[in-house]
Amino acid sequence: MADDVSFPCYYVQKEAAGVRAEPTRRTLADLPPGDVLVRVAYSSLNYKDGLSATGNPGVTRKFPHVPGIDAAGTVEASSAADLRPGEAVVITGHDQGQNTWGGWAGFVRVPADWIVKLPEGLSPRDAMSYGTAGLTAAQCVEALQRRGVIPGAGEVIVTGASGGVGSIAVGLLAKLGYDVTAVSGKPAAAELLQRLGARRIVGRGDVDDKSGKPLLAARYVGAVDTVGGNMLATLLKSMQRGGVVAACGLVGGAELPLTVFPFILRGVDLAGIDSVECPPEQRRRIWSNLAGPWSLPQLEDLTTEITLDEVGTYVERILKGESTGRIVVRPTTTR
Ligand code: NDP
Repeated sequence: MADDVSFPCYYVQKEAAGVRAEPTRRTLADLPPGDVLVRVAYSSLNYKDGLSATGNPGVTRKFPHVPGIDAAGTVEASSAADLRPGEAVVITGHDQGQNTWGGWAGFVRVPADWIVKLPEGLSPRDAMSYGTAGLTAAQCVEALQRRGVIPGAGEVIVTGASGGVGSIAVGLLAKLGYDVTAVSGKPAAAELLQRLGARRIVGRGDVDDKSGKPLLAARYVGAVDTVGGNMLATLLKSMQRGGVVAACGLVGGAELPLTVFPFILRGVDLAGIDSVECPPEQRRRIWSNLAGPWSLPQLEDLTTEITLDEVGTYVERILKGESTGRIVVRPTTTR
């Protein structure tokens, strides 16, 4: 494909006056070198994309930049023997959308080892409804399973439950038979969370202990935490003996105000989750599970589709904690 072929993208520049971000067009010559050119059918909006799109140096240091840590579509050109043109693929994490131009664009060009072939039964749009959020939620579920938290053992709690990772974690855990409590700051999301299978819904304030006690009543056998900060500390203090917390997020803060007592008196297990460098075998297993036995019948209910023209509004929302479910991005613009 000729280098002067142009495509739509969401272009973020740092200028003296601040960050300028807008839909525009660029050409294939602007893309970084890489093994595989992928025509993007859909990308998605994750909290991290919100940070990247607003110039947060913790995510993106190289500008101008195109955000989008997720992309799904078809191979357009490839120097990798096992990735032929027309093949449906998904790419999440690695450096995509961080310091390598990402999926909020008509095309991405990436190393072959970032790519997972889409399993049978999963469309590029469905893959982006899950996206990094789905991969991360599934990693959290696997972390609980691996550490022996089984359905029927007791209450499992999910924080940030109406968000991307949280809503998919609620859905997956309920589908697998766990007794799920959802923590949400959005009363309007209660119906969605019930449809996803949450048995109880509690407010953020119920999991935000300010007493200063080193341990609280032992209640949960498992937890998926997307919030961090005092909420993660409260969960760790509230776990039953041998309980497991899978921690992946920091929307509520990066600090962890805690003593060692949950670990040394109750044997609580804190499992850290990193989706960016998730090993290839685990990625393939999770995508195949999401296409098959773990697929969520409620996926469409929790998905909102937008174009590049609407991304700015949704970025503001996700950074304020106001986003619900998953946002898929169709890389088109009227500009
Ligand atoms: P979303 O914004 O979609 O979801 C976050 C949810 O957290 C919100 O919807 C809200 O849910 C809740 N929330 C927001 N602000 C606060 C707050 N101040 N205190 C308590 N709860 C809050 O984001 P994502 O699902 O995309 O990401 C969630 C987190 O997980 C982020 O920190 C992200 O960086 C991290 N993450 C980490 C990954 C990894 O590999 N470790 C991969 C993917 C995400 P509600 O209103 O229901 O309470």
